[in-house]
Amino acid sequence: MAEKTLFTKIIDRELAADIIYEDDQCICIRDINPQAPTHVLLIPRKPIPTLAKASNEDKALLGHLLLKIGDIARSLGVEDGFRVVMNNGEKGGQVVFHLHLHLLADKTFSDDSL
Ligand code: 5GP
Repeated sequence: MAEKTLFTKIIDRELAADIIYEDDQCICIRDINPQAPTHVLLIPRKPIPTLAKASNEDKALLGHLLLKIGDIARSLGVEDGFRVVMNNGEKGGQVVFHLHLHLLADKTFSDDSL
């Protein structure tokens, strides 16, 4: 069996994290090294390594994650301004190879950084 990812260990409560939401498909935790005053990670329970490795069978799950990000933004009171980032692959800045979305807020993001 493949070794558990860091995020699966958090999902399985083998590692501690500040969990702010979870359901049968995903979990949302605060990032340990926040890059903005609000920085959370939305992680599917299914350990898809990267967005590029997601397949058609993940369509509903990916839709769920995007809709959930909006719900979480509202629950954190940041729905009027936030950024969602998905790093993909080493060159894309991904460090943990278990697909996840970053939600960053409470900071002004310049439009020249994309
Ligand atoms: P990536 O670069 O893979 O897109 O993002 C991984 C994120 O996971 C980083 O923002 C990093 O700070 C966060 N992270 C790494 N290890 C831990 C951990 O043990 N707990 C939590 N809550 N976040 C982590």
